[in-house]
Amino acid sequence: MNIILLAPPAAGKGTQAELLVEKYHLNHISTGDLFREVASRGDEFGNKIKEILSSGSLVSDDIVLDIFRKYLETCENKNLLLDGFPRTWNQAELFNQLLQEKADKIDFVFLLNVSKETLKTRITGRRLCKECGSSYNVNIDSFKPKKDSICDKCGHELYQRADDNEESFEVRYQEYLTKTSPLIDYYREKNVLYEIDSEKTKEEVFADITSIIEKR
Ligand SMILES: [Zn+2]
Repeated sequence: MNIILLAPPAAGKGTQAELLVEKYHLNHISTGDLFREVASRGDEFGNKIKEILSSGSLVSDDIVLDIFRKYLETCENKNLLLDGFPRTWNQAELFNQLLQEKADKIDFVFLLNVSKETLKTRITGRRLCKECGSSYNVNIDSFKPKKDSICDKCGHELYQRADDNEESFEVRYQEYLTKTSPLIDYYREKNVLYEIDSEKTKEEVFADITSIIEKR
């Protein structure tokens, strides 16, 4: 079973990914980790990737696909949960061909839908603990710290990430829409796109996702 998660920033993608990995024993792949893993192998292909990465140039779609091809030949767990890949319509199409060669396919693409207003509230209210990393939200009553700007767990000061403001949210959100819409179209056409209302609690969202998986 292969799953792709698509979601705007602060839609809870990381949480759902963790829950899915645990329940279905999926192989959670982020492209950054995958590139580094392949580059560290020390073989000819790995060295080539290492060179590209250290030069800072963009990895072309063909090479990204080569990396996936090599990885799929050697990885034990072939039930994939993809996060941040494919990024473009072309990558989606090439990856589809690669899976077809292996008599495999993408089974589910879950699009986590959250309104722009909710995302903005979540992002601009987010506060993190400098010490233990705990996360709070001053815009949501149930996630506020008990004392202003102080971590409930360890008593250290909370801070706001530099890019958790309205301006950078607008930029990230627009980027998301531009990048993701071709993928949404691609997978809708393939009949594997499922839209999930992610305004709900993480448990409810997860229940919705699993009920779709179990139905098939
Ligand atoms: Zn803390």
